[in-house]
Amino acid sequence: MKDGLARVAGFLQELVLPVDCAGCGAPGPALCRDCRSRLRPEVTRREVQGMPVLSALAYEGVVQPVVVAFKNEGRTGLAPPLAVALRQAVAAAVQQVAGDGLLLVPMARTRRSAVERGYDPVRVLLRRARLPSTDALRLVRSPQDQLRLGREERFRNLEGGMAARIPLAGRRVLLVDDVVTTGATLTEAARAVRAAGGAVLGAATVASTRLR
Ligand SMILES: [Zn+2]
Repeated sequence: MKDGLARVAGFLQELVLPVDCAGCGAPGPALCRDCRSRLRPEVTRREVQGMPVLSALAYEGVVQPVVVAFKNEGRTGLAPPLAVALRQAVAAAVQQVAGDGLLLVPMARTRRSAVERGYDPVRVLLRRARLPSTDALRLVRSPQDQLRLGREERFRNLEGGMAARIPLAGRRVLLVDDVVTTGATLTEAARAVRAAGGAVLGAATVASTRLR
């Protein structure tokens, strides 16, 4: 609760006082001109378990602190450039999969997004980008925090953790997320969609870590 209040206070402060740039820490606007220019979308494609994933930004350089500030520090004022990026990734994905009648499906809502943050980052971006989405997935159980887990463990940790909330038989789905790292979350979401009879045509994300 205390934490929640601190976040609200931080948000109000941001409205009235100048804050540091979320990208480089320079005093002044929430995002300086130089960092903003580094958020220009350039869509790249990778594959996660055979599923095409299109992402607008490389998750490195200033992109990383900006996304973290938006997701975890309550700096929702950073939504506009990230929403532009998400829109580009979705547009590219829709084009690639020839997506008529596609359902845009974000990841299941986590307890964390509802309780700790007070907002759900991806859904904020979807609204901002005016992309109609369908809340088709729910969490069946809360997975362990992924941060300390290795790649294989991440996939195992999430498996069976999501389920469809609505019938998806015959529906064509494009998954949407903020950052794709190992692809474990997208893989589990795809499994849950397919288990409910839906077809997963691909995924679109704001950013992607570089493949090693
Ligand atoms: Zn900056």
